[in-house]
Amino acid sequence: MIDPVKILHDVFGFPSFREGQEEIVRAVLAGEDVLAVMPTGAGKSLCFQLPTLAREGLTLVVSPLIALMRDQVAALRHFGIEAGSLNSANDQDENRRVVDAVRDRRMRILYASPERLANTSTTEWLARSGVNLLAIDEAHCVSQWGHDFRPEYAMLGEVRQRLGNVQTIALTATADVATRGDIMHRLFEEEPRLFIHGFDRPNLRLAMQSKENSKRQLFGFLDKHRHESGIVYCSSRDATERLADSLSQAGYRALPYHAGMHQQDRAKNQDIFLQEDGVVMVATVAFGMGIDKPDVRFVAHAALPKSIEAYYQEIGRAGRDGAPADTLTLYGLDDMRLRRLQIEESDAADEQKRVERQRLNALVALCEAPRCRRQTLLAYFGETTEPCGNCDLCIDGVMSFDGTIEAQKILSA
Ligand code: ADP
Ligand code: MG
Ligand code: ZN
Repeated sequence: MIDPVKILHDVFGFPSFREGQEEIVRAVLAGEDVLAVMPTGAGKSLCFQLPTLAREGLTLVVSPLIALMRDQVAALRHFGIEAGSLNSANDQDENRRVVDAVRDRRMRILYASPERLANTSTTEWLARSGVNLLAIDEAHCVSQWGHDFRPEYAMLGEVRQRLGNVQTIALTATADVATRGDIMHRLFEEEPRLFIHGFDRPNLRLAMQSKENSKRQLFGFLDKHRHESGIVYCSSRDATERLADSLSQAGYRALPYHAGMHQQDRAKNQDIFLQEDGVVMVATVAFGMGIDKPDVRFVAHAALPKSIEAYYQEIGRAGRDGAPADTLTLYGLDDMRLRRLQIEESDAADEQKRVERQRLNALVALCEAPRCRRQTLLAYFGETTEPCGNCDLCIDGVMSFDGTIEAQKILSA
């Protein structure tokens, strides 16, 4: 076996492992099955690519998106690694190259869509060729409780058996307990080693307040961040327009963004936010996916986010450059009541409702956290930490307003 650190330097050209990577790489090299939970951008791909290169044999990677597969294959080939993909967008030449390289045992990392693996003749061919490691990327797609559910992912447990119960690593950025449970029991026969890493973003200051005078609370927060770039999330299209107006009147460069706007207007506002300094984007959750602006200095929520995952994603858009960034989330008992009603009145299955209820309770528990807010947030994702010193509760202690009892009444209603 080749030294993993040497491969990290010589093949990938990275000076060091990121948090969590080395332990996962070593567990894979020790032959263990692994479930790795790390946020987007944390470097999950390396956790199966590097072990592949440290030993012999073929790694089969399941990935749901053709565009992602192509990017990864291109990156690997750029590093001089024989890689390819099996998907419906391949032309004849590409297919031939892949088949030849697998047959000659030159192929090291082969990507395939789950649809492709649902085909028994493909898995039989792969079983005959010999697969050494199965990597299941975006593994939360097996879970019915997420928005990315893919029925073909549910069959991957079977694929794994057809490949001779091959060693498996599953990777995802979605860490909630229900999803993790689904991944475990659908993909694995025995419990894999679980690794959860990298959810902490220590440069983000966390704060949550119950709404008392939300406009005053919000303006007070924004006043500390004059001339900085930031995002304010609102719960409705109307609310974004109204708030953008009143901020403009108060002298901010504030722009609305929501899915009801004309495509050109939306694109224009987004460009201004990305290119100029000191713009406040007042947006619904439609804003943010794929936005990579490193110097967003604050994110505020004018209302309770949809879930802890959504909260984490949304505040995570601040401070990508690693410099200090500030967040404030306002929540009201009305928000919680409404959320609860939406769950009860939806026509989702009982089991789905149970999961949604749990998720809402977890978010409320974060709002009402008695101690360090970051500890509560990270505990939800499965990470344990010391009190952070960079959240409202560490800094100010417990807030004077005690919404706990009232909130509990609503939740148990
Ligand atoms: P994820 O799948 O967790 O979202 P990726 O595997 O796509 O993340 O990696 C995100 C980026 O981080 C990639 O550009 C990758 O090359 C880079 N990266 C991964 N590991 C390291 C490392 N140890 N040092 C520097 N960059 C890294
Ligand atoms: Mg990835
Ligand atoms: Zn704290």
